[in-house]
Amino acid sequence: TKTLLEVNDLSVDYLAANGAVHAVRNVNFRLGRGEILGLAGESGCGKSTLAYAVARLLRPPAYITGGEVLYYAGARTDGSTRLPRHVRATDARGAIDVLQLSPRDLREFRWNELSIVFQSAMNALNPVMTVGNQIMDVLATHRRNMKADARKRRAAELFEMVGIAPDRLKSYPHELSGGMRQRAVIAIALALQPELIIMDEPTTALDVVVQREILQLISSLCKELSTALIFITHDLSLLIELADNVAIMYAGKMVEKAKSSDIYLHPRHPYSYGLLNSFPTLHGPQRIMVGIPGSPPDLRTLAEGCSFRDRCPFAFESCNHITPPLSPAVRATPDQLAACHLYNPALSSPAPATQDLA
Ligand code: SF4
Ligand code: MG
Repeated sequence: TKTLLEVNDLSVDYLAANGAVHAVRNVNFRLGRGEILGLAGESGCGKSTLAYAVARLLRPPAYITGGEVLYYAGARTDGSTRLPRHVRATDARGAIDVLQLSPRDLREFRWNELSIVFQSAMNALNPVMTVGNQIMDVLATHRRNMKADARKRRAAELFEMVGIAPDRLKSYPHELSGGMRQRAVIAIALALQPELIIMDEPTTALDVVVQREILQLISSLCKELSTALIFITHDLSLLIELADNVAIMYAGKMVEKAKSSDIYLHPRHPYSYGLLNSFPTLHGPQRIMVGIPGSPPDLRTLAEGCSFRDRCPFAFESCNHITPPLSPAVRATPDQLAACHLYNPALSSPAPATQDLA
């Protein structure tokens, strides 16, 4: 698949009186067109910060301190984009450097290519406006040559896509259930045909069954429309079921990235292994929740070495002073990447290293 988004060496700090918190540290990844990527990790691992940095939605005291976010507008199926010509004018790689866009171009980029569904999105619907008018408002603002009846038809079509009867367009948010409000939010997110949707734990306020339905809905819609999706949830079983690829973050770094099935069947990073075993899954027999003893390191004072070493049952000498890069894990498919010395044959490792973690 064509690359839609490429993140190179991205870092984000939160400035605080007692020192900068290195919330995202040199993250690299690429997202293919229409790919569904799940981001997982404990709270505070940097997953939301990473997603918001990609969309340039961070506010002080958060600052991007380095790296690039490249967006390939030409990746659209029909090769089209609604981006203004001067924004589309790309660099030698054929990419738009999102971090360099002017505020005005950034707005164009966000509306035309990207949709973001925040954690509190369903409560952010305007309570005094019907949901139908809220969708039509977005269309009226950003598709100025769309006629009123076309907007109405499009709104009804969007409601049908997300499984709400179009006569509900006349409802006010409080007249809809939580699940329906969430569907309405998804309809709004899809209204302008974005190429990329970012969802940050969009369903945590809903009960488990509704959460599952909503995430199944959004992932099947994204597949159907070839829309790329980055979704963040603490529910690893949902990630594995619905995402093409999963990235696990720990202490501001991506510590493992692989196909969902590979992460599920044979996680390579000891942290992923611990996470998988601390969540019950819907596949096969339920695994016992074990949790991972200990807590993440202080993100203000990070020395060289593996950030997971204090919690890792396999830690050995090299882990204390060499930072493991995200690289292909031995005995895995080539696109399974892990940041762990256990897979670095150049470092002498102790007995557990030779064992298959899974
Ligand atoms: Fe554990 Fe060392 Fe691997 Fe870090 S690099 S996860 S401490 S074995
Ligand atoms: Mg978060």
